[in-house]
Parts: sequence; structure tokens; C-alpha cells
Amino acid sequence: MKRRRGRTCGHIWQSVFLVAGMIVVVCVLLVQMCSGLLLRARMNALSVDVFADEDFREMNISPQNFQKLVARSEETSISVGALMASVMVDRQYQLLHTVSVLDDSAEMARRYEEKKRLNEEALMQLTEAYAAVWEDLKYFPVPQSSVTPNALVYYENSWMSERSYGGERGHEGTDLMASINQRDLYPVISMTDGVVEKVGWLEQGGYRIGVRSPHGGYFYYAHLSSYAKQWKEGDPVKAGELLGMMGDTGYSKIVGTVGNFDVHLHLGIYIKTPQTEELSVNPYYILQSLENSKLTYAF
Ligand SMILES: [Zn+2]
Repeated sequence: MKRRRGRTCGHIWQSVFLVAGMIVVVCVLLVQMCSGLLLRARMNALSVDVFADEDFREMNISPQNFQKLVARSEETSISVGALMASVMVDRQYQLLHTVSVLDDSAEMARRYEEKKRLNEEALMQLTEAYAAVWEDLKYFPVPQSSVTPNALVYYENSWMSERSYGGERGHEGTDLMASINQRDLYPVISMTDGVVEKVGWLEQGGYRIGVRSPHGGYFYYAHLSSYAKQWKEGDPVKAGELLGMMGDTGYSKIVGTVGNFDVHLHLGIYIKTPQTEELSVNPYYILQSLENSKLTYAF
């Protein structure tokens, strides 16, 4: 009698484990199927306009995560732009916090290949856009001073905050404010290699210079007080090369107007997309990632 009851109990437990096991398997399959469907939907949605999601332009990537992407790119031989595009689609353009997949090269490569199979064209467009912004970066645009230790710059994330000159608009850049409000003191250098694309006076930007980097990013430096030389369109520029001096020019149709605001560098970063010649992206996190890449100049 005892033995028979034991056998029955055993059977019951076996059945319970079997059913539980099946439930787990079904759940895992369902989760996999759902995330597969979700990814498929996300990649399909990109076909309409890859850059339609406003979050894309914010470039929400912490310096630590950017360093991880660079390391994973070296391990996988997949470009930084491509890995960034893949992860940003997965994370819905948010990469400011710790994400475990960034420590796993094999998994990152797998996810990249999966997206490539689903919608290669959209992934390539995103890849090129991220490469244009991130892959040519070498230096912070304002060097540190070896002579005046309190000559610093400070900046905050003012992406799309209100600006009124020239009509109501959002701020499409980052302002690096001078701790010493003195024009012609701080050097402004090129963050990337590239070619001068635009130079001269702009009503809003004052004396500005725009450099097109090898991967296609347009780096726009505005409100300069003077230029390092008589730049012409097409001139080659080396990363770290002096472009001009920080100033307070602009906000006027009259060439050379100064003093309408405090001395600062307005930095803008733009990319070309199939839809537009100039799509601005937020320079703030790009600057953050270059905090440890400052040159030292004597000023
Ligand atoms: Zn500005």
C-alpha cells in the first residue's frame, strides 16, 4: 500500500514538472516570438523615414557607453557607427545608462546581423548618420590653458531650449560659455579632420566656420571674434588645428557686430539625410565624450 502511494506521488510530481517545463518552454518561445516581431516592426517602421524619431537627434549616449562601443567595434571588426545604429534601435535611442549587451561582443554582432537581414537599407542609413557624427571626433573644441588656469568653459544640455533672435525657435546646438568674458582670449580648434565648407558672416552665427568631416558630419563653430587665417572654402583642416578665437559676434545683419551676448562658442553638428541637407543633432553628449580629449594651448 505504502509503495503504491509513493509511486502515485512520484507520478504526480513527474506530471507537475512536465507541465511546468512545458509552460516555461512555451513562455520562452512566446517572448522570443514577440521580441522578434517587435524588432521586425521597428525595422519596417524605419523604412518610412529613418530619422523621423526626434529622439534620434538627441544622441543620448554616455561617454562610458561610447567607449564600450569603440572597444566592441575593435573586437568584432564592425564599425562604431554600425554597432551604435544597432544598439540605438534596440534601446529606442537611449544609451545613457548601463546596458549589459555592451559588454558582449558576440551578442552585439548577432543583433547587428539580425537587423541587417531585416532591413539593410535602413540600418545602413542610420550607420552612416552615426558615423558622420561620432567617427571623426578627436578633440574637444576649446583647449585648456597652460597659462590661465581659471580660463574654463562650461556648458549644459540646452538642446531645443528656447531662443528668440530671428523668431521663436529651439536651440540647435550647445553653447560653451567662457568663464572669463573676454573676446579673443580662448582658442577654438577643429574637433575633426575635414574641409572648410562655409566661412564668413552670418546674421545669427556672426563670424562662423563650418568643417565637413571625412565621414560627412558638418561641424559648425559660431560667434568667433577672429579667424586663425583667411580661410577659404575647400581648405583642408586637421583635427586640433586653430580655427579662430572665441568671441561674441552675431545677432545682427551688420558684419562685425559684437556684444549682443556673453562670449561663447556655439557648436552645431549637422548631418545630410535623404530627406534634408541639414539635420541638426545634439552636440552635448559628443562634447561630454571628448572631456578627456582636450589639447593644451598657451593662452
Ligand atoms: Zn547657441
